[in-house]
Amino acid sequence: MAPTTPSLPHNTFLGSWHPGTPDGPVELKEWQLSTAWRIAENLSVNNPFYADHLGSLPTERSAETFRSLPTTTKDQVVADCEEHPPYGSRTTCDHADVRNLVETSGTSGQGREVYVMNADDEVAAVQMEATGFWWSGIRPGTRVLLTLPVGTTAAGLWYYGGLRLLGANVFSVGSYSTDRKIDFLRRFGADVVVGTPSYVQRIAVAAAEIGLDPKQFGVDVLIVAGESYEESWAREIELLWDATLYEQYGCTERAVAWTCPGGVLQDGRLGVLHFPPETAYCEVIDPSTGRDVQDGEVGELVVTPLTAEASPLLRYRTRDRVQWVAPGSCSCDRPLAGIRAGGVQRYDDMMKIKGMNVWPTQFDAAIFGVPGVMNYRGTVEVVNGRESVRVRVECLPNRSEAVLLEVREAISGSIGLRAEVQPLKPGELSLEIPEGFVKVSRWTDNRRPDPSPPQNAIANSELPK
Ligand SMILES: [Zn+2]
Repeated sequence: MAPTTPSLPHNTFLGSWHPGTPDGPVELKEWQLSTAWRIAENLSVNNPFYADHLGSLPTERSAETFRSLPTTTKDQVVADCEEHPPYGSRTTCDHADVRNLVETSGTSGQGREVYVMNADDEVAAVQMEATGFWWSGIRPGTRVLLTLPVGTTAAGLWYYGGLRLLGANVFSVGSYSTDRKIDFLRRFGADVVVGTPSYVQRIAVAAAEIGLDPKQFGVDVLIVAGESYEESWAREIELLWDATLYEQYGCTERAVAWTCPGGVLQDGRLGVLHFPPETAYCEVIDPSTGRDVQDGEVGELVVTPLTAEASPLLRYRTRDRVQWVAPGSCSCDRPLAGIRAGGVQRYDDMMKIKGMNVWPTQFDAAIFGVPGVMNYRGTVEVVNGRESVRVRVECLPNRSEAVLLEVREAISGSIGLRAEVQPLKPGELSLEIPEGFVKVSRWTDNRRPDPSPPQNAIANSELPK
């Protein structure tokens, strides 16, 4: 990679890179909406995919009429790329202007989405990551252990670019074994470790197994992405590393959200991930009605990237289930909307057990509500012809008998299901995840006749989805 001159946001509080971006909540929302409308107008005339998809636009340019525009789904993007190889009919830019390609993982069995980027798109993508890295305290020379592989998926590439843009000293160890990553930490130390929640825990547990205390590596900041977690987990992992936890949400379709300075835990509770101002026009809708949700309510994130010239998207449905946080709801006072930290789930993760629709979040709430529970994994399987739920729970050894009973009662009381519960020692589960950087789902569904690929076990080998 070419040398990069360190650069920082024009307005570090707001996270904007362009002097013209408004910094008041109302003006900013208007600017984002009018930019999104300009994109819609352009696509409806000049883009073969969207000219068909959008038809004629309404005359009024409001948030309500924008919400009436058709959404774009993963299936549509995948089909377009297959029918118009290799980049799809959405891609109208000259091939000589293409600088990069990212793709989604395709592990959900639905195929891979492909997005190419021109020079402006690339700059915008690394800037949106650099904004959050700046808020996390990364400055020129900050030592960052980047545990994501840098390949053709977005997160590794864009993280690497964003860190380099700020002038960080990046240890790009994503393709190394956990042991070698620990060797790196031991030899060079690090100020910041970036990875999934499971993986930063795994490094700590693996270090402890060879007699090293994670605190001795001098890490001040952990940045996690890709899995949901509970408040209690956030507190535990901070204690384990003696570091402050930050979080990033990101999708390949070009929306990100980042914790503001101070980290995930604000006054001891899970705080907010803010959408950087120039990245995307974000909506959170009730997926059944298409209406906007209110502040604090849960819905599906729908994104319109504001700089995606080579592979544009309009109203992309992420299938990510988020809790909407309106601008001004965070104690940092940024005029930026956002989502609740720790809580991003996939709509596709809902399970039907004994005829009931059950979300992993319901199990999370029941199981983590029991004092002493540190982590768990659940399995749904068929035993003697009956559906059965098995939960393995990490807890302190002196609490294991009580935890076993209380977890069973909590699941039956709040969800109405009987579960077989097995206590484990702290850290046992993190040693089960494969080497490298993987998103881990807490739930495995073994009822499906074809176990390959596992739908819920290791949901992904890359980030973002
Ligand atoms: Zn904030």
